[in-house]
Amino acid sequence: MDIAAILGAIVNEMRGIADRGMLPGYIPPLTQVDPQRFGMAVTMADGRMHVAGDADEAFSIQSISKVYALMLALETCGDPIWQRVRQEPSGTAFNSIVQLESEHGIPRNPFINAGALVIADILLTRFGAEGARARFLQFIRDRDDALPPIAFDEDMARVEYESGFRNAALANYMRTFGNIENPVDAVLKQYFLQCSVTMSCRQLAGTGRGLMRGRTAEPASRHVPTVLALMMMCGHYDGSGAFAVRVGLPGKSGVGGGILAIVPGIASIAVWSPGLNAQGNSLLGTLALEKLVRATGWSVFTPH
Ligand code: GLU
Repeated sequence: MDIAAILGAIVNEMRGIADRGMLPGYIPPLTQVDPQRFGMAVTMADGRMHVAGDADEAFSIQSISKVYALMLALETCGDPIWQRVRQEPSGTAFNSIVQLESEHGIPRNPFINAGALVIADILLTRFGAEGARARFLQFIRDRDDALPPIAFDEDMARVEYESGFRNAALANYMRTFGNIENPVDAVLKQYFLQCSVTMSCRQLAGTGRGLMRGRTAEPASRHVPTVLALMMMCGHYDGSGAFAVRVGLPGKSGVGGGILAIVPGIASIAVWSPGLNAQGNSLLGTLALEKLVRATGWSVFTPH
């Protein structure tokens, strides 16, 4: 199978599409990004990397960071984290507060904002402010050695902190139920720093290798199947069902327009197109993944 040729054809097709979705107006720096940008990268289990389009341009990974934060929390704090965040799809928007009241401040899953705030709180309790920040960045860096080194975008984090009223409301509300242990201020700072990480598609696909390994030689974390199951069910907010139907892979989106998708045992895929659909997931990124999966037969629901 000629993955490079498939990616090249998809990039060409995507370049010609006029309706590229909406940029997220509530995070000012993300409205400055050129909606014409489009990149893709695929890392295969044997280490081969295929890239196409703007695959080396760094972008804001935003909520894709929730995957790494969850993995770090699972590897360092283990299964007790499931007492504070559930493993169920939400069916609501990424920043929704509605379910928190009837569910006593326990978020539905770690990939909606409320759940990711709890995970940030867990990391803060475990490592302290400086430690949580450093451990999170090192955890991502350890997953890929492509240069330049993966970094936080401190300006992006500050802007979100100054305007992130909804996230502040979520954290304050959960604190009233005792499900946020640290000062809300510190939790928000940690969460926004995590979201601010910038990576290229090449780096993002590279950092996904640990989730892809499956039955290959390198040992995978015992938490990988859990993380992949949650990506499949909850990785695209209230668009998770449609993503599973169209693409058929565990994936996680971010409002920066990136998506990380995993073909267990076969490939780690990153795609970036800044315009979003109504659920806040990359419009053309989803379409491109659908085309890639159709060309390769990589959906986990296709008999292999
Ligand atoms: N930093 C964004 C927020 O908290 C992340 C949302 C996303 O990427 O879906 O609103």
